[in-house]
Amino acid sequence: MPRRYGPYGGAYVPETLVPALRELERAWRDARADAEFRREHARLSRTLGGRPTPLYFARRLTRRAGGAEIWLKREDLVHGGAHKFNNALGQALLTVRMGKPRLIAETGAGQHGVATAMLGATLGLETEVYMGEVDMERQRPNVERMRLLGARVNPVTEGSRTLKDAINAALRDWITNVRTTHYLLGSAVGPHPFPTIVAELQSVIGREILRDARRLWGRPPELAVACVGGGSNAIGTFRPLLSSPTELLGVEAGGPRRSRHGAASLSFGRPGILHGAYSYVLEDRDGQVADTESISAGLDYAGVGPEHAFLRDSGRVRYRAVHDDDALAAFHWLARDEGILPALEPAHAVFAAVREARRRPKGHRVVVTLSGRGDKDLEVVRAAARRRS
Ligand SMILES: *Cc1c(COP(=O)(O)O)cnc(C)c1O
Repeated sequence: MPRRYGPYGGAYVPETLVPALRELERAWRDARADAEFRREHARLSRTLGGRPTPLYFARRLTRRAGGAEIWLKREDLVHGGAHKFNNALGQALLTVRMGKPRLIAETGAGQHGVATAMLGATLGLETEVYMGEVDMERQRPNVERMRLLGARVNPVTEGSRTLKDAINAALRDWITNVRTTHYLLGSAVGPHPFPTIVAELQSVIGREILRDARRLWGRPPELAVACVGGGSNAIGTFRPLLSSPTELLGVEAGGPRRSRHGAASLSFGRPGILHGAYSYVLEDRDGQVADTESISAGLDYAGVGPEHAFLRDSGRVRYRAVHDDDALAAFHWLARDEGILPALEPAHAVFAAVREARRRPKGHRVVVTLSGRGDKDLEVVRAAARRRS
């Protein structure tokens, strides 16, 4: 397993965590090679998670764009309503295998917390989730869901009270309870081996896209688009397509139009260390981790996974920022054109996909990963509509 992607990645952690990260790497390598583990993982992916997910032709959205065909990879149909299940299932099974009785997790939009709480219940693991107070306010339904699923939700009151602070709190808990506890990290970020484990678990997205593309069209899509918060649904989409001729586009949150950098670390940040890894980070004028701004809690993070930093520098993947109001527009397009309420995170990717499709020929195909459904965002969308009227 690579410790680094080019210069990025590594494990910048307190010494108390080094043995746990080593144990995790070893356990994952063993599990991956174990046919029985793989069978159980595949069985639960299918019967609990609802995989494989379909590739859906968005006919009316394609007509709106007036160019290339737009296809949606329907991760919003996965159990829990987002791609987070793919990662949580793999790591929760690994936790049982390591003989640890307790799970902790951080969450931003609440989707990863919900996925972790679900699997904690399924596999009989005690579960605690750290969540910033600001996020608890804007994603209230997911807080309720986690509690109903039997998880304890710990409000985080430090800093900007969002995802970055929740990760800090979860890391502190892990340092104290590392012998009994697995930290089920929710994105392709953090110290080695987390970015690699999460990318491998999410790569099912890109593998299924490639398989369906070959079956439907006899070749891979011309373009694949995915939104980038920490970068897990995007790296899962991109990895299996890296060696194909498919163009790849990662979409970050540009925040409000007046915002200096939104939450777009690859577009406006620079290399630095955050949460145990070397990657792109947004900094303020004093060199501190910047406060980020985005309408979507799931993209509202100052860092990004190290593999994306490498892919950005290499030029293999392009990264662009999309503003809040454009993501909102795309939310309404998908609702009215296709009868699908997307989460605000992938609405950023849908906006970029429509813009790209518009300037491409009709024979081309653009696949956009619809990482989650929009039920959790209804209050945010309603409030934005009130502000505008
Ligand atoms: C968490 C989340 C994201 C952002 O996380 P990544 O790790 O970048 O995928 C995007 N979309 C949805 C629906 C989410 O819940």
